[in-house]
Amino acid sequence: MKIALVTGAYKGLGLEWCRQLGKIGYTVILTAREIQKAKEAADFLAKEGITAVPKPLDVTNESEIASLAHWTEFNYGHLDVLINNAGINSSTRAKGDKHLMEKNLTLTSLDANEVLNMINVNAIAPVLMAKHFKHVLAKSNGAKIINIGSWLGSISEKNTGGNYSYSVSKSALSMMNKILSYDIEHDKITTVVVNPGWVQTDMGGARAGLTTEQSVKSVIDHVLNKITLKDSGQFFNQDGKQHPW
Ligand code: NDP
Repeated sequence: MKIALVTGAYKGLGLEWCRQLGKIGYTVILTAREIQKAKEAADFLAKEGITAVPKPLDVTNESEIASLAHWTEFNYGHLDVLINNAGINSSTRAKGDKHLMEKNLTLTSLDANEVLNMINVNAIAPVLMAKHFKHVLAKSNGAKIINIGSWLGSISEKNTGGNYSYSVSKSALSMMNKILSYDIEHDKITTVVVNPGWVQTDMGGARAGLTTEQSVKSVIDHVLNKITLKDSGQFFNQDGKQHPW
């Protein structure tokens, strides 16, 4: 049985990851902060014949991560694919609050706690997931971790001011991923960062150029299905090309 786990999975890109992994035969552990939302999403996917198992997970809660790793090992014995999808940016944290929305987008409104919070969710949590799931992933024959990054985390492509928190958090994710790649190499676990493109979700907004279906299908075809251990630590675009750091 092929097992995948997706974080932040009740909507947006996370839900689509569950759908597409389910359609290609994975049993998907569908996690969300609120169990009710995870259950509703799993019920929704069940109508399409997809096996999604809802579990509660706030990715900043290390004891919740540890319990889920034990649960996964006890119930399935291994994990083949981990999608570290959960993420926040200034606009999603600030729905309807114009003042908050502007925080960390400009130098004058920079808020240290907000920057740290975004680094916590977007960069540290994916590595905490790897820390606790490493031994379960090691029991798969060539497990893969996809960390959802962003072009906004590319230092070489940054050509405007502002957006401190999100950009810094996604750059940090790239370094976290690179370091992690060496620490899990021995267990034959491949870990990469992927820019999903600009995607129509609550975070991406309606004007984005890609649907969730297009983005996830492209990452599955060009990254998930293609990468091997020699690609570990790299930063890819959704079309499978290397992304500039
Ligand atoms: P959404 O805002 O639609 O979804 C984000 C998900 O992350 C939500 O389910 C949210 O749950 C969850 N989440 C946030 N904080 C936590 C937490 N502490 N623990 C668990 N879950 C959490 O955005 P997208 O689907 O667009 O984003 C998915 C990923 O793609 C993110 O990492 C984002 O940075 C990245 N990305 C998106 C782009 C786009 O254009 N859409 C572009 C580049 C990257 P809740 O509702 O409970 O907060």
